[in-house]
Amino acid sequence: MNQKILTKKTNRLKTFYLNSSIQGKNGLNKSNIYHGNLILVNKDNPLNTKVIHKYNHFVPGVLNHKDIYLEIETYFKLNQLIKYINSGDSIIPISGYRSMQEQKQIFTDSIKENGMDFTQKYVALPGHSEHQTGLAIDLAEQNDVIDFICPNFPYDGICGEFRFHAGRFGFIERYPAGKEELTGIGHEPWHFRYVSYPHSEIIQNFGFTLEEYVHFLKNFSFKDDHLKYKTDKYEYEIFYVKESDLMSFSTILAEEKRPYQISGNNVDGIIITLLNQVVRKSGVKTYERYH
Ligand SMILES: [Zn+2]
Repeated sequence: MNQKILTKKTNRLKTFYLNSSIQGKNGLNKSNIYHGNLILVNKDNPLNTKVIHKYNHFVPGVLNHKDIYLEIETYFKLNQLIKYINSGDSIIPISGYRSMQEQKQIFTDSIKENGMDFTQKYVALPGHSEHQTGLAIDLAEQNDVIDFICPNFPYDGICGEFRFHAGRFGFIERYPAGKEELTGIGHEPWHFRYVSYPHSEIIQNFGFTLEEYVHFLKNFSFKDDHLKYKTDKYEYEIFYVKESDLMSFSTILAEEKRPYQISGNNVDGIIITLLNQVVRKSGVKTYERYH
């Protein structure tokens, strides 16, 4: 069944499948909590030490910069977005995936150069940086002088256009102004995080941070009402499964015929995104399940 859907040539569907094979042979288990596009990594939620992130898990050559690496889906979606807005060389990548060692180095160097207050505001503690997931990218507007800790990425011009379309390609501006208390990081107009579509668009529409979104999704448990998000082509159904329900939910998921994505929240459970296809019959929209 999966193969049949994959042959339909839509990028969104292809992407939708990338992470759906994460489920282990024995069904879902605790390790699923720490993988996926929606993992929340912040001051309170470090990367899980059992999840090993190394350079060879990631793809080099982000926007033709051979030293910059990203997780594969993030890499392709960033490319698509940059192509879509036709920004050429005017947007450049500054920092993608970082190893623990590099994050430590950046943190201690920044303390020496900028002091503790500044560092705590703009540089995540080692083990708590989204850059260690490969799902985050710092971008700069091309210029003769570039600040590598706080690159210039304004809200107008081509950078504004990037931001405007980011949600369609699965990205969010991760550290907005006014939400510093929640994120624990100062306003960073240059830092984007891949969370995948449609989560990016929902986060954008609600004006959420990832912290708020992960919390919000707990209102939609698999046993209760699911969050429905409709676009022209698809209806997405999103819900949360808490850790203690993973085993029982595994049996339900094994029977699921629709395409789905699994992501941990890196806190206490997983988020499932199901895809329902919208079928148009005589101009009337109906929603049908894949079978
Ligand atoms: Zn960053």
